[in-house]
Amino acid sequence: MNTARTERTVGSISRVAPAARVDPLATSACVVTVDLAAVVANWRAVAALVAPAECAAVVKADAYGLGAVRVVPALASAGCATFFVATIDEAAEVRALAPDARVYVLDGLLPGAAAALAASGARPVLGSLDEVREWAAHCRTARRRLPAAIHVDSGMNRLGLEAGEIDAVLSDPGLLQALELDFLMSHLASSDDSRSAQNRAQLRRFLAIAGRFPQVKRSLAASGGVLLGRSYDFDLVRPGLLLFGGRPSQSVGAPVVPAVRVEARVLQVRTVERGRKVGYSAGWTAPRRSRIAVVALGYADAVPRTASASNDATGGFVAFRGRRAPMVGRISMDLVTVDVTDLKDAAPARGDLVEIIGQQISLEEAAHSFGTIPWEVLTRLSRRAARVYVEASSDVAATIGAPHHG
Ligand SMILES: *Cc1c(COP(=O)(O)O)cnc(C)c1O
Repeated sequence: MNTARTERTVGSISRVAPAARVDPLATSACVVTVDLAAVVANWRAVAALVAPAECAAVVKADAYGLGAVRVVPALASAGCATFFVATIDEAAEVRALAPDARVYVLDGLLPGAAAALAASGARPVLGSLDEVREWAAHCRTARRRLPAAIHVDSGMNRLGLEAGEIDAVLSDPGLLQALELDFLMSHLASSDDSRSAQNRAQLRRFLAIAGRFPQVKRSLAASGGVLLGRSYDFDLVRPGLLLFGGRPSQSVGAPVVPAVRVEARVLQVRTVERGRKVGYSAGWTAPRRSRIAVVALGYADAVPRTASASNDATGGFVAFRGRRAPMVGRISMDLVTVDVTDLKDAAPARGDLVEIIGQQISLEEAAHSFGTIPWEVLTRLSRRAARVYVEASSDVAATIGAPHHG
């Protein structure tokens, strides 16, 4: 579906519609606001923190659900020259949006995919000896040293060349001579916990491996690594979450501002007598006469079913004018039920927007209350919500459209 976009101006996000026009948001059950200015500000803040190392942007999974179509051009205009995605299809999309940028495919090389990847203009992050050999073979066939990065395993045991494979690469000089090695990278398994001993162990291991590749650039840190200290920066950092306003660590502050807000409408507020059960599987029983707000978003939007609350366990919550109310009962596909009894006269009414993520409830807090992590919440942002994009340029024009895949 391709919905027409409406350009209009918003001042500090208060939406003033011309009287004659219908506010497209008025009929939206769920609204996701993406602040591109905040994304750019966050990229600049991280870039300043790690300079002179280069700051790339990880924009896999449709820029973590924020919309690569809007996020990538904004970051490219701000000066971001290197992007990381997971798949070859994502690389093709980002290449089209930022033709001058270097785009790396973190998944590496599927069997037989070298020609297609090279044709897309993207660069593989080679994660095994097989992949290095296939890329080198493709370079020989193409009679060109094509650029690639090599991923070495420093202790995560997921992707990356193991010790024996590194020996094999180094003992066959023809392999590395066939291709253009942009940089050597590895990935930290526990960088969301600054106290984890695994961070220093992986750093030591990476340094030992990198020492065997003299003059080759290095990259180790994603968002968590950026906050661990200068010794993790090397030549290139690869943040994703930080750019989108998320904090990877509970214990370390981050120089970023929120970039995503999720709001949804109250469809009705009903009185539920003490002892009555609410929602699927009768998952919650009213312990008193309660006021229950039925809110128009569910697990198809941004609130996973693990945010459900029973009488014994708390789950997610919503905020309305600075006050909070807990979700109760099971999360449905399109609806959540919220106990607003304690808000009394300040409770939201039919048609009001309540906040699920934003200024009042941080992304990390929401993710924690849902029983998951901010990365997963972002990448599962609603596809059907109305999307409001606050532009990165200094004027505050916003584009409103739904859904965002236009
Ligand atoms: C996803 C990913 C990143 C970005 O991670 P964040 O924690 O979102 O910053 C960086 N490097 C690799 C290898 C990744 O897979």
